[in-house]
Order: sequence, then structure tokens, then C-alpha cells
Amino acid sequence: MKEMICIVCPRGCRLRVDESTLEVTGNTCPRGAEYGRNEVTCPMRTVTGSVAVKGGVHPMLAVRTDRPVPKDRIFDVMAALHGFTAVSPVKRGETLIKNVCGTGADIIASRDM
Ligand code: SF4
Repeated sequence: MKEMICIVCPRGCRLRVDESTLEVTGNTCPRGAEYGRNEVTCPMRTVTGSVAVKGGVHPMLAVRTDRPVPKDRIFDVMAALHGFTAVSPVKRGETLIKNVCGTGADIIASRDM
């Protein structure tokens, strides 16, 4: 039995997941059950970070993945961000890196620059 806090919404339900049957208890809504099952089988996270930007009013630009990526790929994605430089002007939501590290997720800008 694996115990965890659901992070899908601020309510923070305490979940228990049976690792053999994937039965979830303690969830208040179906999203919690899905989160609990995914945490046991393939945990995913949206990655946030920043990249260098040329020609902007700040030297760094906040970015994030447009969808969650497997948790064990987070360091690969962060390394890709470290080696990338955006060029201003950049629009919020603009794709900066497609299919980052082959995860299927794109890196998008979190703000205008
Ligand atoms: S189980 Fe549902 S209500 Fe509870 S924290 Fe998760 S998303 Fe929120």
C-alpha cells in the first residue's frame, strides 16, 4: 500500500493506493484516483524553469512544459533548458522547444518578453 497526498487541487486528500490492484482510497473525486494510479505506474510532472533570453528586458525568461512529462525525465528537461537561449520578442504561450528530450511535451514561454 502506497500513501501520498493528492496534488491535483489544494484540498490535498490523503490517498492510499494498492500497488497490486491499483485501487485508490481516500480520494474525494475521480481526478484523485487517476492521480494515485499514475503515481504508482508512471508519475508525471509539469516542469517549470527558466531559459536565457537575448534582447529582452530581463536576462532570463520563465518557461514550462505544455503537459506533464515522466518524473524520471525531469533532469533531462532541465538540462535542455540550461543549454537553450530564446530570442526576444517572445509571446506568452509561444513554443520555444518542440518535443523536448523526446517526451512529447513542448517548452513554452510563461510570459511575454
Ligand atoms: S482527490 Fe480530488 S478533491 Fe482530493 S485533492 Fe485530489 S483532486 Fe482535489
